[in-house]
Amino acid sequence: MKILDNDNFVALLGTKGGPAIRPGSTNPTSSLLVIDGLKIVVDCGLGVTRGLVNQGIGLKDISLVFITHLHSDHYLELGPLLHTAWTAGLKTGVTVIGPKGIEDYWQAFLRSMKADIDLRIDDEGRPDLAGLVSFQTLEAGEVRTDHSLTVTAMRNEHPPLVDTFALRFSDSGFDVVFSGDTAYLPDIADFAKGADLLIHEAMLESALGPLMARIGNADDRLMKHLLLSHTMAGDAGKIATAAGGGVLALHHLIPSDDPDYGENDWLEAVRPNWQGELHIGTDGMRIYPKNKT
Ligand SMILES: [Zn+2]
Ligand SMILES: [Zn+2]
Repeated sequence: MKILDNDNFVALLGTKGGPAIRPGSTNPTSSLLVIDGLKIVVDCGLGVTRGLVNQGIGLKDISLVFITHLHSDHYLELGPLLHTAWTAGLKTGVTVIGPKGIEDYWQAFLRSMKADIDLRIDDEGRPDLAGLVSFQTLEAGEVRTDHSLTVTAMRNEHPPLVDTFALRFSDSGFDVVFSGDTAYLPDIADFAKGADLLIHEAMLESALGPLMARIGNADDRLMKHLLLSHTMAGDAGKIATAAGGGVLALHHLIPSDDPDYGENDWLEAVRPNWQGELHIGTDGMRIYPKNKT
């Protein structure tokens, strides 16, 4: 796929909720946001590197990465992404903005790959990877301004984590909100007021019982976590309606790989609460602002 000059869009690279993949499943969470001439990676679940390349992104052009919270389905592949960008010719700095603790992951990743990194610096004349990556701790409020782009963060509700955030990327032509992983939180509607595109996480209520039966964990702790920490698709529709924005896209889908539940089940769950443009995310799906096709 190509990226044209002046394009603004979001590409959903990985759309399943949770870290496990199985035959037939989609990838854990990652997205690409192209806005104001910047190519921004939002979350780095397994598959993010391949997903970016499939979108036509040269990995050495990556300069800005956001991690919404420290669950592995959102940052497991951050190290491999940056290392692969480096082997693809990265020479300019990358800023990673994520919760406290993300830098520890990165330092440990560098240690785990020390033999390879030292070798490639010596043997191939590459710059030191450690010197190319800098970190900013993600906190609620205004995170960053860049040309005409403003990024703001809101703490969402995703227990037991505390440092877990929704993100809003606003510029004159495109205004996008990512809910992050969160329980149903009406405040997100205020945070997303008037946005062109709301990308919200979602669970399909009717499919959760069968999901638990398939996974077969010893007790009901996983089900309790899901109910406390994530949002039903119908409630995501309520948020979109209250926000009054243009387009709703669902990702971080739970479940994502049950052949008994498909797009129509998701649409049925959302439609009573949201009548606007709606996308049920699939890996590689691009969503443009409404005035552009
Ligand atoms: Zn997640
Ligand atoms: Zn999570």
